[in-house]
Amino acid sequence: MEWRVPLADLDFGEEETHAIQAVLSSKWLTMGEVTRHFENEFAKMASSKFAFAVSNATQALHLACLALGIGPGDEVIVPSLTFVATANAVLYCGADVRFAEIISPEDLTIDPQSIAQQITPKTKAIIVMHYAGFPCRMHEIMSLAAEHNLPVIEDAAHAPGAIFDGKPLGTWGDVGCFSFFSNKNLATGEGGMIACQREDLAEKFKLLRSHGMTSLTYDRHQGHAFSYDVVDLGYNYRIDEIRSALGLEQLQKLPQNNAERARLTHTYWHALQNLNLTLPFSKSGQGVPSHHIFPVLLPPGVNRHAFMTQLRDAGIQSSIHYRPVHTFTYYVKRYGQQSLPLTEEVAKREVTLPLYPTMGDENLQYVVNTVKKILS
Ligand SMILES: *Cc1c(COP(=O)(O)O)cnc(C)c1O
Repeated sequence: MEWRVPLADLDFGEEETHAIQAVLSSKWLTMGEVTRHFENEFAKMASSKFAFAVSNATQALHLACLALGIGPGDEVIVPSLTFVATANAVLYCGADVRFAEIISPEDLTIDPQSIAQQITPKTKAIIVMHYAGFPCRMHEIMSLAAEHNLPVIEDAAHAPGAIFDGKPLGTWGDVGCFSFFSNKNLATGEGGMIACQREDLAEKFKLLRSHGMTSLTYDRHQGHAFSYDVVDLGYNYRIDEIRSALGLEQLQKLPQNNAERARLTHTYWHALQNLNLTLPFSKSGQGVPSHHIFPVLLPPGVNRHAFMTQLRDAGIQSSIHYRPVHTFTYYVKRYGQQSLPLTEEVAKREVTLPLYPTMGDENLQYVVNTVKKILS
């Protein structure tokens, strides 16, 4: 379908084309110098001690759980209002999830009080997700985690470049997991990054993302090594040079693109404030969010499917973030029916409107006018 205003769009230009051509000319395609450069630049941007590029954020989350020693018999507390990968990563390790509630219709991030209620003797970690790139309550969460001696993984898929209280999101916890999927703030098609501040974990990530091997093909190509040992059960979660080259270009555009997302979001909030909509995060104003998506909550009782259909008929793509993970068939089969009333109520009313840095005011105004028309 040809959308007049798509939900998201890439900001790609000649720079990306040239970067890819340079990789092709170099004749080295998988994890090498360009990837190392991308990792270094990303670490600088995020003020992270270590950064390891992988093929997607799902792998980053999986390795985060593995590196923290999560396995069968363990439990990890996760939000339900998130992409399913946040919870799946725990299950890949043979462990189980316990779902925590969100704070409120205004703040869709995980509720520290609800986390506290889900802690059991089996709890081994907490995963938080910075919804839309707005910070979770990291001060409360980190002190709760410290009190119970639990590591914290940040699903920062929405949050590259976001800062809370002077500290980039993804570097508050033990491990931060970023996504470079094609609709994210920094897009390489598939791609992800692990940010970590602990040397012991960094050593594990290096091994686990490449079969547990003690040297890389690139090291051998460079003449630094002739053979290798396999010292752990690792995976092939490597990234390639083409995606890293895209990542480097996108990283340069991230600050101004995030700033434009912020400007568009504030324009939306202002234009939609007198409707009956709930505008999550519009009153919080803390730190520097990355404004990955623009969620609104319809007034209770408004038919969401009809609303989204009318948007579609006007050429406007919208989406839902998210159907709660605990309501998916697989999760119901595994854990039975669970009740998270606030998450469920918000998820029923949520619609995500278009937001992307190249959107422009005219497209935004068209979305606003269409929304007003539908709701009146
Ligand atoms: C996109 C996303 C992921 C998964 O990222 P991939 O890179 O596609 O694996 C995980 N969590 C959240 C919240 C996401 O939005």
